[in-house]
Amino acid sequence: MSDAIISIRDLHKVYAMGDARVNALAGVSLEINRGEFASIMGPSGSGKSTLMNVLGCLDQPSSGSYRLDGIETSRLTDDQLAWIRSRKIGFVFQGFNLLARTSALEQVELPLIYTGAGNRRRRAMEALAAVGLADRVHHKPTELSGGQQQRVAIARALVNDPVLILADEPTGALDTKTSGEIMGLFKQLNAERGITVLLVTHEPDVAAHTRRVIHLRDGLVTSDERRDDRSRQPADEARRNGKVAAEAAEPVGDGQSLAHFQLPRFGFRLPLQIPEAQQ
Ligand code: ADP
Ligand code: MG
Repeated sequence: MSDAIISIRDLHKVYAMGDARVNALAGVSLEINRGEFASIMGPSGSGKSTLMNVLGCLDQPSSGSYRLDGIETSRLTDDQLAWIRSRKIGFVFQGFNLLARTSALEQVELPLIYTGAGNRRRRAMEALAAVGLADRVHHKPTELSGGQQQRVAIARALVNDPVLILADEPTGALDTKTSGEIMGLFKQLNAERGITVLLVTHEPDVAAHTRRVIHLRDGLVTSDERRDDRSRQPADEARRNGKVAAEAAEPVGDGQSLAHFQLPRFGFRLPLQIPEAQQ
């Protein structure tokens, strides 16, 4: 089985606005592997939300291919897309999207009701405990802080055991300290459960928590940068790796550089950016 959880090829999304056409996605190709923790950055209007909507099976592309966990989605019916959404993907939004006057426990049980899963109470309690809210399960959104509300939303995204969490500006409504805590939680879920996490952010500080940063502009990927997680890597090992990478980037015998080798793998055509840890 392929390692790719997301595999898109030449994805286009065209919106018709009267006589004008907007190329919100203008030919995006991208692979995200199982277990990655990645972010998408880019100016307003660059196509980030359009891409997330397609990746989340909330919207269909105008053309191109999208395979999610091995399933080609472009030929599926609305019902089939809804089935995939509810079982494979957890969504987290900037504004939390919680129901008012509904307890945390009931919010987190909702996706289980939708998929007809059993053991709802126990599973919802476990998901809330996993996000550090075991002692807040009967609280309603108005009785919780912003960070706690986003934790409820993350528990709701987790409860159906998704293979992928998609988050559109998940820290956009939070202060810096709380943003860091929420990013720490995503990092932990990624590391401990192997859930692939892909998030959109405007903030470099937030993107810096992830191990891969993809930039969009005018509906195209303009850079795709992977970096080592330096917090897990002893300094001397990082230096050694940096040296090896710097040497490999020099033209080698047959005149090919590392950049050329990486082109097919990353599927973009711009100059290769050397990960931060290797500069
Ligand atoms: P971002 O999330 O990066 O700010 P979007 O994906 O929301 O960008 O939008 C990309 C482009 O597509 C923008 O030019 C936007 O105006 C346009 N667009 C987005 N959604 C629609 C829509 N439903 N109808 C028409 N144009 C849209
Ligand atoms: Mg957006």
